[in-house]
Amino acid sequence: MRYVSTRGAAPALDFRDVTLAGLASDGGLYLPDHWPSLSREAIAGLANLSYVDTAVAVMTPFVGDALTPGELKALCAQAYGRFSHAAVTPLVQLDHDRWLLELFHGPTLAFKDVALQLLGLLFERFLAGSDRHLTVVGATSGDTGSAAIDALAGRAGVDIFMLHPAGRVSDVQRRQMTTVLAPNVHNIAIEGDFDAAQALVKRMFNDPGFAGRFALSAVNSINWARLMAQVVYYFYAAVRLGAPERSVAFSVPTGNFGDVFAGYVAAQMGLPVAKLIVATNVNDILHRAISAGDYSKGIVQQTPTPSMDIQVSSNFERLLYDLGARDGGALAAQMQGFESSGAMRLTDSQHKGAALFASDRVDLDDMTLAMRWAYEHAGQVIDPHTAIALAAARRHASDVPVVTLATAHPAKFRDAVERATGQRPALPGRIGDLFEREERFVTLPGTFEAVTDYIAARAVPRA
Ligand SMILES: *Cc1c(COP(=O)(O)O)cnc(C)c1O
Repeated sequence: MRYVSTRGAAPALDFRDVTLAGLASDGGLYLPDHWPSLSREAIAGLANLSYVDTAVAVMTPFVGDALTPGELKALCAQAYGRFSHAAVTPLVQLDHDRWLLELFHGPTLAFKDVALQLLGLLFERFLAGSDRHLTVVGATSGDTGSAAIDALAGRAGVDIFMLHPAGRVSDVQRRQMTTVLAPNVHNIAIEGDFDAAQALVKRMFNDPGFAGRFALSAVNSINWARLMAQVVYYFYAAVRLGAPERSVAFSVPTGNFGDVFAGYVAAQMGLPVAKLIVATNVNDILHRAISAGDYSKGIVQQTPTPSMDIQVSSNFERLLYDLGARDGGALAAQMQGFESSGAMRLTDSQHKGAALFASDRVDLDDMTLAMRWAYEHAGQVIDPHTAIALAAARRHASDVPVVTLATAHPAKFRDAVERATGQRPALPGRIGDLFEREERFVTLPGTFEAVTDYIAARAVPRA
């Protein structure tokens, strides 16, 4: 399997190099050069497999010969062995045709652990025995940072610099990052919002001076290996609800379009996905894009769902490329137009091609009502992000099962959960002493110079 850039001008890479690379050198994102497919029999056969064996079956075509099947299985067993539920991503029934897929049983209580626990191990495996040292730079609106830090803390050959918007992540999220005191972990609070932090990271990758000095790598969902690991749970859930005989719909609380894009990949591989519901909060650029073809930035509004407070969704570029006949030159021009004006229209073929997706914008009241409904009618305390997707799932008439992706443990957002349901979720035992631990981070102005000076003084230059 080879990986190509959405903007058509970066060299094609194999799985090992695409894992270590992150963003492509032409500013695009890497994608497999074709979608592998699983036959109906192969999909039916997944129904009896453990999560780890499902992961190996789904990911093998993407990994190619970069790992032996035994090595891939060992890495998956190690990554998913750290989850606190034996099913890794269990399904919970809400009513006769609605389900939750609980993705938050990993070490930092967010769905991002599913991908990042594996990614940390892939980094270590691919760097072992080389003299390469990776400088991972990322921006987080909360959950990515803690999951990436947990996955990379103490790993040889890697430093991680994680930018978060100062004051705009929850206390639990901040402490999950800043109480990890491993010397290769560097937390930076940026004065600005998440999009500003993400723009700084993008600029570092595109700056020849800076990117030339350090072997930069990404753990944001622009990293292909992360998306690949997320494809697995779509298969795992769907076969338990009757696939491939029966198709299944998914409702996904969406920010950077990584999680829901993994569902699109599962569908391209042959999983019968009836619908992918893109659920946004009031930061609704994706809802406008999918319902009306209008991809234009608004002003970021802060909500109780910070991981979705985004006005630019990096991974949407991957969908636009795939739906635009994979024409990298045309997509590069379209994206450059968007980057200079903050707005673009989807082409007719992109808009029509997106028919697998539905979308919905969920405001604060409907989010709260969904949290109450889950508690009062199904006995489930859910987090605000999950509630956005559940509200969308409940609006969506369907004759197939609808699975809402539960992306964070409710204890990560205790205040919002308590306001809606009157229940204050306890922190699970494994992170219960979070508020007693020492914190370490710096606060910097959101300027390119301030952040790159700080990183350059601490990172290991390229060999
Ligand atoms: C990251 C995150 C999301 C959004 O996922 P994307 O892949 O960025 O669309 C939703 N909910 C939670 C809790 C998250 O951490």
